[in-house]
Amino acid sequence: MAINILIVDDSGVMRSMIIKTLRMAEIPLGDIHQAGNGQEGLDVLGEQWIDLAIVDINMPVMNGEEMIDRMQQEPEMKGIPVIVVSTEGSKARIERLEHKGAVFIHKPFTAEIVRDTINDILGLGENDES
Ligand SMILES: [Mg+2]
Repeated sequence: MAINILIVDDSGVMRSMIIKTLRMAEIPLGDIHQAGNGQEGLDVLGEQWIDLAIVDINMPVMNGEEMIDRMQQEPEMKGIPVIVVSTEGSKARIERLEHKGAVFIHKPFTAEIVRDTINDILGLGENDES
């Protein structure tokens, strides 16, 4: 199973770092899509089959929290798993995002954390003996 992933971050450097980490984490990657803010992210979600969204919080035009709120309102988008990757330290905000179904990873992150989080969310790596 190859996973199509959408990466939403206003920093191109951070998007590249996340892609590199995904490769190092040996995630079975399908298509990787990128967006520079929440609105662009929603546009991609409306056009592409995405299995997992990795979303920054602080972005211009539309931040990650608003993007997640909009996803919840769209029947075709609300079931898509979301990982929020941010330097955000506010416990209240993290709890609010987790309450909306997102899983939180702090920047900076390691390949192991990214791999374990994705495996958990997508239920991968449970039958990897065959
Ligand atoms: Mg940002």
